[in-house]
Amino acid sequence: MGAGLVGSLLALYLARRGYSVDVYERRPDIRRAGAVGGRSINLALSDRGWKALAGVGLTDEVRRVALPMTHRVMHAVDGTLTEQPYGLNGEAIYSVSRGGLNQTLLELCAREPRIRLHFEQQATHVDLATGTVALHDLTQHPPRAYELPTARLIGTDGAYSAIRSAMLKTERFDYSQDYEDYGYKELTIAPGPDGAWQLAPDALHIWPRGQYMMIALPNLDGSFTCTLFFPYEGPDSFAALTTPAAVQAFFERVMPDAVPLMPELTEDFFRNPTGSLVTMRCFPWSHGGHTLLIGDAAHAVVPFYGQGMNAGFEDCRILNELLDALGDADAAWPQVLHTFERRRKPDADAIAQLALDNFVEMRDKVADPRFLLRKKVEARLAKDHPGWWLPLYSQVTFSPDTPYHEALANGRRQDQLMSRVLPLIQTEADYDTPAVQEAIQAEIRLTAESLS
Ligand code: FAD
Repeated sequence: MGAGLVGSLLALYLARRGYSVDVYERRPDIRRAGAVGGRSINLALSDRGWKALAGVGLTDEVRRVALPMTHRVMHAVDGTLTEQPYGLNGEAIYSVSRGGLNQTLLELCAREPRIRLHFEQQATHVDLATGTVALHDLTQHPPRAYELPTARLIGTDGAYSAIRSAMLKTERFDYSQDYEDYGYKELTIAPGPDGAWQLAPDALHIWPRGQYMMIALPNLDGSFTCTLFFPYEGPDSFAALTTPAAVQAFFERVMPDAVPLMPELTEDFFRNPTGSLVTMRCFPWSHGGHTLLIGDAAHAVVPFYGQGMNAGFEDCRILNELLDALGDADAAWPQVLHTFERRRKPDADAIAQLALDNFVEMRDKVADPRFLLRKKVEARLAKDHPGWWLPLYSQVTFSPDTPYHEALANGRRQDQLMSRVLPLIQTEADYDTPAVQEAIQAEIRLTAESLS
């Protein structure tokens, strides 16, 4: 249920195992209707997502339309630019069009004889005892209600899942949803006169401003999609910017270098909706051995680590691996679903926490010289002691075999270590002093002792 990014990838995985898959989607077919509202919205795809796409042979097709971003560029109010590489060896995250990727996945689904796609069909309710789904056929006026019996039902219907709503009413179902005091607004940096990018296209651009920030990811057509993450209330907030003149004055005051690149700033600001940011946690993710939630339906996270889709794609790969290990037989499915939810839940909780932590890093810390110094020290540690130190960002983004919960725990240990070593370091050159090198050796001995 749901032909978004995760539902369409999962359908491919299941069809290739020999399953007959019916995919129901509330929206019209985006291959015909075009991207929602004609806007170009992009996402950062990283190694976990690539690994899952490789499982259905999609790497080359997506790589052709993906723009590598090897570093962050921070824009200060005075226009000064600071760079920070994402990886240790030029690794990149990739800007891809959300609509374009979904379309590519749906085109592949349409070519699979075992997949049938049903658009404008909205699930409204599920009888979990029988697996019967109540749907509305939105192509009819008024919408026609009907019931669909299912042998197995997988809810890939996103953060506001109808399948999850039915599970919510079952006994001992844990559920929480936490909204941020921030919303987001998509804005656009236009292409230059000859279609050229007006900012470096191999970077993710950030305007960190303490309590809020704007980011920009490149598109193939020379534009950038910007996202302003901004408080709902307060002196600098959505509530305070109520007129085009106020929006213009605000941007000129806090992001003056971006304003000349955004000719439709005020139109975009008032035309585009304000999105909310939610962390949704729930458990269990399965019911009765036949119904399962995956992707955002099971775990919606805030977007600050760029991992929501990547985590949902990883769900698909891991479910496929469990079917390899435990078998496709009807009798194996309850065990597959049970194993899947128990294995993935700690990782979903970990990426939810990492994403919340990363908001503070992106909007505030990246503008702090001490934070940038720490990043440089970490790069030196990783170079000198590769088996011992890998920056948290690399563990999450470039290490698809490190579970998120392990990355989170490693990151916590690294924070403690840094709180002991960093006070000895004032400039990057201090790293080579005997005092710092001795402190690092002591930490390495400490790690070895704690492991033995
Ligand atoms: P969705 O993409 O929400 O798809 C759900 C589908 O189900 C939709 O097509 C919907 O129409 C359909 N549906 C819903 N209800 C019903 C119903 N009742 N009946 C039938 N169909 C239904 N992730 C990253 O990895 N990298 C990023 O850089 C990134 N940036 C983000 C930026 C923002 C601002 C936001 C909000 C999210 C971002 N994410 C990012 C997260 C990512 O968008 C989600 O994790 C991802 O879209 C989840 O995919 P999904 O298929 O589970 O859910």
